[in-house]
Amino acid sequence: NTTHFGYQTVDKAEKVGKVAEVFHSVAAKYDLMNDLMSMGIHRVWKRHTIACAGARPGNQILDLAGGTGDLTAKFSRIVGEQGKVVLADINDSMLKVGRDKLRDLGIVGNVEYVQANAEALPFADNSFDVVTIAFGLRNVTDKDKALASIYRVLKPGGRLLVLEFSKPTTEGLSKLYDWYSFNLLPTMGKIITNDADSYQYLAESIRMHPDQDTLQSMMEGVGFEEVSYQNLTGGIVALHKGYKF
Ligand code: SAM
Repeated sequence: NTTHFGYQTVDKAEKVGKVAEVFHSVAAKYDLMNDLMSMGIHRVWKRHTIACAGARPGNQILDLAGGTGDLTAKFSRIVGEQGKVVLADINDSMLKVGRDKLRDLGIVGNVEYVQANAEALPFADNSFDVVTIAFGLRNVTDKDKALASIYRVLKPGGRLLVLEFSKPTTEGLSKLYDWYSFNLLPTMGKIITNDADSYQYLAESIRMHPDQDTLQSMMEGVGFEEVSYQNLTGGIVALHKGYKF
């Protein structure tokens, strides 16, 4: 029962290599593909995440797996000059596209860019008021390790928001979505980026990501409290939130 990339059988180093290859390959066209693939809805999901994050002026925020910086840009405006947003990503191509985009938008001064692996965050304990990871956790090999690392760097009272593809709540939507991700998505990827494989990977990584309740248990397992989630767009995406007290 292996996937196109043999995901059940690949070892950790292979998955890390594959994820790096995918994001180096798609970095330049990542924003365009996001808009096309989600028909712009990713912007709504991201706006909702910001609205639920409860960020305040002066806060320290970590936008983990932040890629091309959509959430960072929004947080930067909220936290103001006294606050700070760290955009951290494992992939230097994605970081570079993000940094160039934000600088072009005039977003400078309170944003830092750090190349880091979510599994071993290079920050002191109790550093951040809010950590977000949007469409990033499914790419991480050891998700429990990443969640524990996030918990460590959050301040007491701080919160984690995980925005991620999840399990559609109805059978009909699930079938439609499978057709979309395994047929239309790789075809669009091929036409626009000449890279059907990366988008096949994307579809498979979504299929294999833990469902809503499993992710909630994983967050509770590393110590998060008052963990809850909201289904967005019929569970195609879910927003999980948990606190460190
Ligand atoms: N958060 C952005 C957004 O919502 O548009 C980017 C999401 S993109 C689909 C996933 C990002 O996760 C990529 O930039 C990738 O490099 C990053 N990533 C994958 N594995 C990671 C890891 N172990 N640690 C940190 N970032 C990682």
